[in-house]
Amino acid sequence: MLKRFFRSEYVKVLFSSDYVFSVPCMGCDSLLDLMKYRNIKDKLIKEKTLKPKNMLRPDMCSYDDLRLVHKDSYLKKLADNQHLSEILKLDLSFMIFDSVMEYYRAVTGGTLLGTAYALRWNIPCFNLGGGFHHAHPDKGEGFCLINDVAIAIEKFRKLKRAQKFMIVDLDFHQGNANLLYFKDDPNVYTFSMHGDEWIKIDRPYNKDILLPENCGDDEYLSILKNELKESFMEFKPDIVYYIAGSDPYEKDMIGDMKISREGMLERNLFVYRKIVNKNIPLVVLAGGGYGPESWEIYYDFVSYCLTNKI
Ligand SMILES: [Zn+2]
Repeated sequence: MLKRFFRSEYVKVLFSSDYVFSVPCMGCDSLLDLMKYRNIKDKLIKEKTLKPKNMLRPDMCSYDDLRLVHKDSYLKKLADNQHLSEILKLDLSFMIFDSVMEYYRAVTGGTLLGTAYALRWNIPCFNLGGGFHHAHPDKGEGFCLINDVAIAIEKFRKLKRAQKFMIVDLDFHQGNANLLYFKDDPNVYTFSMHGDEWIKIDRPYNKDILLPENCGDDEYLSILKNELKESFMEFKPDIVYYIAGSDPYEKDMIGDMKISREGMLERNLFVYRKIVNKNIPLVVLAGGGYGPESWEIYYDFVSYCLTNKI
């Protein structure tokens, strides 16, 4: 049984200086905004919303922890910039391997530290990144090299800090790697509501909801509220990982949904309140989000939770 000592109104935000690629990517026409999480952090600090007491600076995930999920042969392949370029769709010819891997290891370290805090203190933790739900043990896809959530689940299960885990994934893209990785695991519930389905697997403790094209606020929120309620009736997790992808946003450059900025905040606060009010430890990951206005969605969410008592 988990020990929970107190609840605080102050959420924690995870970020470190290793959360940004340390070499210039100027000129590459990627949809990835590599600076967006640092910009969110800087804006929150400037506005005095994010205070030192809210911040946690994670260490990089160790290679031993990476190996809890990923194959050695795959980790060795990640040293090849050509391979990385294909997954990330970036021109990495000027980049050194370490800077890319350091980014993924730092953010994964954030998901691990967030899990430790959430389980120990039952304080909601926001990672300014992470939710790399397309990363398989032996393959990276769609901007995801390292599966931070799967690593956290394996690590804290091994430490016997939690037994039952739930992933609530509201990114525009299906959480395919998590579905596949945990397909035979009755202690991990995978919930994914998306506009882009990658695989189909029938398993208990899973909900895959493919949304109609051009889905708008009302339809989206009504499906989410009904389906998530059902999932929590089926499964009682010790901890929830919420992958709060911003790409269902109407201004996103990849997703084709029509969710307004207000609708995205309502979505995020609905999930947040649902889990926090059930007194379940929560780790929030940023997930995907593409284009110049994408950062606003995660910023709105973190900012609201830092300034409002929920
Ligand atoms: Zn996505």
